[in-house]
This record gives sequence, structure tokens and C-alpha cells, in this order.
Amino acid sequence: MRSLIRPQPFLDEIDLSYLGRVIRLNDFKNEKEAIAFLYEIFGNKEVARNRVSKADLLAKVASCSLENFTQMHTTRPLRRGIASYCPDEIHGGNDESTLNATAVQNNYEMAYFCRKCVSDDLKLSGMSYWRRAHQIPGRLWCSMHNSVLSSVSSKIAFLTEPSAYFDANSVISDEKFLELKNNQFVMNFLEISRLLYLRNKPLNLRATTPILGDIAKERGFQAYSGNTKSDLISDHINSVFPKWWLEMIFPDLVRKPYGKQLHKIDGVLYMRTLSSTVTAYLLVISVLFESAEVAMNKLNHVYINGTGENSIKRNVYQLPPEKDLVETYIEARGNHQVASEKLKLPIYIVIRAMRKIGLPSLSSDILANALVLFYLCKQSIVRSIKLSGVNEYRFENAIRETGGNMVLALEKIFSLEKQFDKDVFLENYLKNYSSPRVK
Ligand SMILES: [Zn+2]
Repeated sequence: MRSLIRPQPFLDEIDLSYLGRVIRLNDFKNEKEAIAFLYEIFGNKEVARNRVSKADLLAKVASCSLENFTQMHTTRPLRRGIASYCPDEIHGGNDESTLNATAVQNNYEMAYFCRKCVSDDLKLSGMSYWRRAHQIPGRLWCSMHNSVLSSVSSKIAFLTEPSAYFDANSVISDEKFLELKNNQFVMNFLEISRLLYLRNKPLNLRATTPILGDIAKERGFQAYSGNTKSDLISDHINSVFPKWWLEMIFPDLVRKPYGKQLHKIDGVLYMRTLSSTVTAYLLVISVLFESAEVAMNKLNHVYINGTGENSIKRNVYQLPPEKDLVETYIEARGNHQVASEKLKLPIYIVIRAMRKIGLPSLSSDILANALVLFYLCKQSIVRSIKLSGVNEYRFENAIRETGGNMVLALEKIFSLEKQFDKDVFLENYLKNYSSPRVK
């Protein structure tokens, strides 16, 4: 059997982009051949090939759990950002069975990329990739470079490198770009979308709806079905977002006459099952709260026993002192997910708190080893990358985020696991350097 080259996914690389790289690096003729091969190696043979999810296979190629892969590399956490079905099941979790078929799929007509990101990628690693953050509906500019995205039809785009489309047109003019950036509601919408990507499970629809309904009522909007007697939230949304932007992400809304209810949007305030796509909920939430942060704090509740709105407990999260955070990070071997379970805090709270004190997630052993080479064995950046085989981009990102706490944490993590001696560690790396790495 042929051997398989298994690249590490890049930071925020979208699933299909990763699949494309696996195909190219291994010279597979097409996606079908690649999936068949991956199924032969990794597939659970008790499950028919067409029922085994691509996400599952790709997670195995990347040597990470299905949960991690789903949360870091698929659009699932956004598409399933609010759910009434199994809301307590984490994205990519075992019981979330419908996920398996649909986690990796092309949900968008267009594929978006930032030319400056592509240039940076080519400089850093010689290849470019599609970022998940750029595929958020309505996200038409790169927040890192503050420049308008370009787009191509997504049919096959994700499987090839974005650098192949370098000449594609920018999606909007500079005037429109300015209009979006100056619109608080658009900014709320995009920020909430981003925050949903940081959560490991959806917002519970049954707990969310009554909160939205209450606030809407207070603001004078109609929050029940039946004849229209008050202002409609759908009309309000139509009046505050740029029309051309709404047309791109929710065309039905723009076409509806003023004063006529649009179930998919107005129903968000009272329907106890998902009335529409997550986009509808995001539009409503964006206009009901003054900021994305306020919205997420309010909606990030715990729903107990599923017995109705009276049982909603709204949580205010108390962070432990810094030294306890460092301690937990060490116990969790640098894994934010594990740390969030130990601290009993939502993952996005933990990610933010840990990054603030210079402790990014040690998502792979390769990355951890590279950091040891750099911080403890005092190798240069270039040499640490060469010896460990870590992805350059990931490594440089990690270095940028780390501080003094990291040195302490690495020393502890490594001495917990083995009698750690940095000279021996380095020597082993130098010895193995010429032989192929096995993962
Ligand atoms: Zn960019």
C-alpha cells in the first residue's frame, strides 16, 4: 500500500482546503480517490463508506480528535450556532450523529480569500490556504489586513490553492467597505459569528428564544404570531442594515413588503423550534443588543432540565487568579479544551484568559516540542522549526502569543512527564534529524 503524507492543518484552515492539500501532496487523482484511500486506512469498517464522514477521516489524517477538528476547521460551529436538537452535545461529539454526514460540505456559493494573507502564506510556507474566518456570511474584508476580500465561485475553489485565483476581483468597492465598517449592526453580526466559532457547543434555542422575545417586546416589537399590531423586527432589520449587504446574506428579507411578516425572521422571537437558518438569529440578535459582547454574555446561559424559561440560570463567569490559570494550563498539558473542563468554564472564556497571560493552546506535540527547542534549549526560531518540523506559520503565531508564563509552563509540563533534561532532548532531536519523522 502506498504511504500517506499527512500535513498539519494551518491555523483556521477550512476543512476542504485541508482536504485539497492532502490530495495535492499525495498526488491523488481527485477527491473521490482520496476519500476511498483514507477510508481504507482510517475508516471504521463497520460503517459503510458513504456513511463515514469526511470530517472523521480528515481528523485522523491530522491526528486530532473529531471534536477538535470540527471546532477548529469546519463551519459547523457557526451553522449549528443555535440549536434546539441536542443543544448540549458539543460540536463533533459522539451523539451528534447528523454531524457526521454534513460537517465537511461546501455550503457557500462563493469562496473568499484575502490577497495579503495569500502573499504572507506564500512567503512563510510556500503555499496558501482558505481561511474559515473569511467564509462567514457577510464577512467581506480581512480583519487582520483591513482589506477587502476577493472571491471566486466555490465549486472547486476550496480544493485548489487561493493563490491560483490571485487575479480575482475584490468583492466590494472601498465606499461599500467603509459603509460596512461604520455600521454598528454589521459589526455586531460579524463579531457574534466569530464568537460562535469559539464555542464548543451551540446556544440552546429553547433558552434563547424567550430572552430575545422579552427584549423585543420591551423595545416595542411584535413577539408573537398572528395579526400585525406592533412594529416588526423584520422591518427594523431592513431599515438598519445596508440593503445590498442584506441581499447577499438574506435575500428574502429585502424582497418582503414593509409591514408584512416574514416568518423566518419575525418567528425568531417566538418559535420554539428553529424557524430558519442561524443567519436569521444573528440578524435579530445584532439589532437587539448594543454589542456582540453584551449579547453573548446574556445568551450564554445554562439551561437546566429543559423545563422552560423559568429554569434559566444566567451565568457570570469568575476567572481564577493568574497563578491558578497557569497551574491548570500545566495540568491540562497546554490543552485549552481540557483546561476549560477542569475549570468548568466555557472554552471561549478560557481561550481568551489563557492567551491574555501568554499561554496559547499547545494543539500538537510537534508545536510543544518546537517551543521547548526554542525556549528551553535556546535554539533559534529557524532551527527550532527545522528540527521539530513544525508548521512555520503556527510556530511564529505561537511565539508571538507567548510570554514568561510559557517558559515556566513548558518546564513543568515536560518534567511532569519524564525526567526532562534539555541537553538530552536536543541531542535526540539532532540524532533523529536525518531520519524521517513518524507521527
Ligand atoms: Zn488578510
